[in-house]
Amino acid sequence: MSDTFYGSDYEALEAFDPDIAGVLLSELGRLRGGLQLIASENFSSPAVLTALGSTLSNKYAEGYPGRRYYGGCSEVDKAETLAIERCKALFDADHANVQAHSGASANQAVYGAFLTPGETILAMSLPHGGHLTHGTKMSFSGKWFDAVHYGVDKDTEDIDYDEVERLAKEHRPKVILAGGSAIPRLIDFARFRAICDEVGAIFWVDAAHFIGLVAGKAIPSPVPFADVVSFTTHKVLRGPRSGAIVCREEHASAIDRAVFPMMQGGPQMHTIAAKAVNFKECATTGYQAYAAQVIANANVLATALGEYGIRPTTGGTDTHLSLHDLQSVLVTGVEAEARCDAAGITLNKNAIPFDPQKPNIASGIRVGTPCVTTQGMGADEMRTIARLIATAATKGDADPDHPVSKEVRAEVTDLVARFPAYPR
Ligand SMILES: *Cc1c(COP(=O)(O)O)cnc(C)c1O
Repeated sequence: MSDTFYGSDYEALEAFDPDIAGVLLSELGRLRGGLQLIASENFSSPAVLTALGSTLSNKYAEGYPGRRYYGGCSEVDKAETLAIERCKALFDADHANVQAHSGASANQAVYGAFLTPGETILAMSLPHGGHLTHGTKMSFSGKWFDAVHYGVDKDTEDIDYDEVERLAKEHRPKVILAGGSAIPRLIDFARFRAICDEVGAIFWVDAAHFIGLVAGKAIPSPVPFADVVSFTTHKVLRGPRSGAIVCREEHASAIDRAVFPMMQGGPQMHTIAAKAVNFKECATTGYQAYAAQVIANANVLATALGEYGIRPTTGGTDTHLSLHDLQSVLVTGVEAEARCDAAGITLNKNAIPFDPQKPNIASGIRVGTPCVTTQGMGADEMRTIARLIATAATKGDADPDHPVSKEVRAEVTDLVARFPAYPR
């Protein structure tokens, strides 16, 4: 531990609270010991984790840099200003707000900035790949706002843009929202913009899943098209667990006032510092190569799973994730998830478009390559992973002592030993 920095100190924690120290270690062991294929997860860098575990966590800083409600903000102001400037530069945006605590909090602020309760939004339906915060009944967004939903086309399984246009003309929504959590394909932002212009709607992109690919210049950016773009910072982007919003200059003060004081209290200055570190990482050529490799890997994985009869919806992917239909191998999503889990492979069951099963059973799985790509894996490893998933899902068992679970787990152990997460 350096004298000039007093922050994370594992030994001190272990001495005082061995229970929680043990959880920190065993969680690290869990993520190192298996394959992490959850499409919304990643392994942030030691630099990001250092900022997170710092004394900036202590500071109250309600307000914005130079305009705080508390004294003593000179140092945290520097961190937030760096985060804002780096975020604007990374996405070539007019304005950035880096205070949202998470993706859902960022979205809440966008609602607050543009809508009053009872007004209408048009967004992608959850069972077709949207998100809870896009107007589902369980969420504030569906309770307080009138949400109309579009879905995907039955044949292409990709967004039905004609339906978006038809519903926009019929319902005249105040806001049209693009983005979701299970969309394997690129989104046609120009088409959405044209529809918004036609009906006078605000165009909002929830880029939570794919913003890292935009930051890495691996896919087109929504920023030139959208009025406002909200996102998480912990998915492909690989920063701390948090959120942020970029928008056009004309919406800057509405967004800032909606984040604070409308929706949140004091910002988490340690997380904001960690976001600044992450934005700096994302501006490197190393990160750009990473983002391109994430997509290349997702492509190989999706195709290889398809060759085992585990069909990728839409026929493949343009991004970091693919969604797979298990119906032809006669396995449900919940079974596949449990069997893979028993074999050391973490992935999630997922509804596929027009899924005949209930959401808690599901006919599909979702896989993503952010974590395994951070570990340095490439195309050969993706083919191996596809074979291991197919073996576990179709021949395996939820019992970790089943011979197939053991056999696959042994191969997983070999693979992760060659590409360690958080190498010592
Ligand atoms: C992950 C996600 C969110 C929510 O982010 P949290 O940080 O979990 O609140 C919102 N929108 C989309 C599309 C997401 O994928």
